Amino acid sequence: MYPSNHPRSCTNSIPFSQLLRARRICSDDQDFAKVSKQIISFFEQRQYPQRVLSNALKRIQGIDRASALAPKTDHTPTRRIPLVLSFHPSVTPIVRAIYRNVETLRHDPSTRDHFPDPPITAFRIEKNISKHLVRASQPQAVVPDTPGTFPCNRGRCNTCPVVSYDKNLSIVGPNNNRFNVHQHFTCTSANDV
Ligand SMILES: [Zn+2]
Repeated sequence: MYPSNHPRSCTNSIPFSQLLRARRICSDDQDFAKVSKQIISFFEQRQYPQRVLSNALKRIQGIDRASALAPKTDHTPTRRIPLVLSFHPSVTPIVRAIYRNVETLRHDPSTRDHFPDPPITAFRIEKNISKHLVRASQPQAVVPDTPGTFPCNRGRCNTCPVVSYDKNLSIVGPNNNRFNVHQHFTCTSANDV
């Protein structure tokens, strides 16, 4: 939805990027004309303003399929320093104020050498629903007192993948002596040797 809580530049760019995608896929101009109408009516239903949609249409009409498919060639690294922020609608006036002041500094003879380029605003990706959900299948809990060695099942543990899962409850020591394991060990067990 257009009024959703996202940076305006982000929502405003979606209709054009969808039209560009259709432009790349459709080899027939009539197909593209049909599909672009569908795309526009989809965004109208999602409360996108006519101004944004007609700008996107105007932009895509100046691009033919061959140039839409051509890989981007401009890879000039930017020297602009990223201004990384968490997005909130109230952040926009702050960003505008920062840009205004940087512009002053960029044009002042005593500071312009220190500010050759304006900063570039970057918004962090907010936590979405997938960050809050857990998998339906969890590793089976091991009864804490079962003798043997077990993975600790902490996320990102480097030892778990090499833990021997077989239920061989003895280890071979010097002179081929076998020692039975009577206790419960995981990657996190300390003072074992
Ligand atoms: Zn582990």
